[in-house]
Amino acid sequence: MIFDTHIHLNEERLLANLDHFLDEAKSNGVNKFLCVGWDLDSSKKAVELANKYKEIYAAIGVIPTEHKQYVLKDSQNNKPTIDEIRNLFKNSEKIVAIGEIGLDYYREKDQDIKDKQKRMFIEHIDLANELNLPVSIHARDSLQDTLNLLKEHPVKRGGIMHCYSGSKEMAKEFIKLGFFIAFGGVLTFKNSKESKEVLKTIPLDRIVFETDAPYLAPTPYRGKINEPKYIFNTVEFASTLLDIDLGKLQEITFENSLKILHVKNEN
Ligand SMILES: [Zn+2]
Repeated sequence: MIFDTHIHLNEERLLANLDHFLDEAKSNGVNKFLCVGWDLDSSKKAVELANKYKEIYAAIGVIPTEHKQYVLKDSQNNKPTIDEIRNLFKNSEKIVAIGEIGLDYYREKDQDIKDKQKRMFIEHIDLANELNLPVSIHARDSLQDTLNLLKEHPVKRGGIMHCYSGSKEMAKEFIKLGFFIAFGGVLTFKNSKESKEVLKTIPLDRIVFETDAPYLAPTPYRGKINEPKYIFNTVEFASTLLDIDLGKLQEITFENSLKILHVKNEN
């Protein structure tokens, strides 16, 4: 039993061969997926997939890097993007999170854009709280600001720190705010020493796994398209690192995923 808590089955490369990828993942023990949107179109697609496949759940929202197309609430001329996101809820009961949302300063030096990202983030948090949902957080080169913003604008239901890349001290802070820490392919990379150290400090009841497929394939597939079945490699790697029985780790982290996403295990 593995729950992939962050995957883009709605991305072209996975969509093109979806049934094949899902079948292969299933034979590797992966039986639930949170399909995450990054803009309005991909969020709609995530909802469609969740409605079509029993094992798929959807997260909807706009990633900070898509700030250009995002219409803030107080805009006079156009329909606010957050209202269009909210509208998707009438189409499905399998939208279990708002995401991926957050702050991304990786290629961003412009303060105005950073400010817009913060406003986008807050609008999504407000929606999550209105709908009583957790969030999936994308934070790149922005962990301190992300933490500060979440302290000022708490998410009632908490959420998942997707592809967590910070220190163990900061992970503790996110955990205090009700967050689970997600580990993906990066954990298996030779040069990701910190990630490995961080994993060892996270309480077992706060660890979840993800692929972020089709991105960030684990070793030995690094650089290739990340396939949904490869999450098995990451979980196996983590079980060795933590010196925990693989089956036990799968069981615990699967339960963690159900818990934070409020998903019932009905198979
Ligand atoms: Zn993602």
